[in-house]
Amino acid sequence: MCRHLAWLGSPRTLSELLLEPAHGLLVQSYAPRRQTHGRMNADGWGAGFFAPGRPEPARWRSSRPLWTEASFASVAPVISSSCVLAAVRSATAGMPADETAAAPFQRGRWLLSHNGVVDRSILGPHPAAESVCDSAQLAAHLFDFGPERAGEFVADLGKRDPGARLNLLLTDGARILATTWHNTLSVLCTEDGIVVASEPYDDDPRWTDVPDHHLVDVRAGEVTITDLEA
Ligand code: GLN
Repeated sequence: MCRHLAWLGSPRTLSELLLEPAHGLLVQSYAPRRQTHGRMNADGWGAGFFAPGRPEPARWRSSRPLWTEASFASVAPVISSSCVLAAVRSATAGMPADETAAAPFQRGRWLLSHNGVVDRSILGPHPAAESVCDSAQLAAHLFDFGPERAGEFVADLGKRDPGARLNLLLTDGARILATTWHNTLSVLCTEDGIVVASEPYDDDPRWTDVPDHHLVDVRAGEVTITDLEA
């Protein structure tokens, strides 16, 4: 089970979001606090972020553990963005280990990360997927289906694949969508933005946990949480 995070608000540096928090993605890459499958996330990482005047996000992905990335640690304090989606990866058995299998996956403005596992034979192969990794296949199918309909997609796929774990995190730079389906998720609303993350990156008492089988929708500073099975 990987760990992921999204930020939407005033510009923050990648270092502030990923590297500096006491229990941020850097620490979660070797010592996650709430992970139920796998003990660490050493099989790569990725960060997607939006820049002014550029409709599509930039991505930095790697197959290496985040804690080994000295060059990234050097530039992360000077890259800031108002919308970031990042993940650290614990590869599912049998999945490729190269950087094309690391989230976030992208199509146009949309970025997607997946904490979990899905049976690829139920999804079916997708020629436009970035990798044969289950999460990349899932991303390609959801980009076709409509990223705005992620909740509907997860509720349907969860019924077709009862063994699936489907915590998704998506953004298009203006909105964050996240699902809980057999994995943890928390939300933090601050003065200048909103964080949606697999687990709290610090001990701020304002973090709230999202119940399982729910959809989180962040838009215009508002967070809406709805039951996926209602
Ligand atoms: N199944 C995905 C992969 O192999 C995600 C794994 C995870 O959530 N740990 O990368």
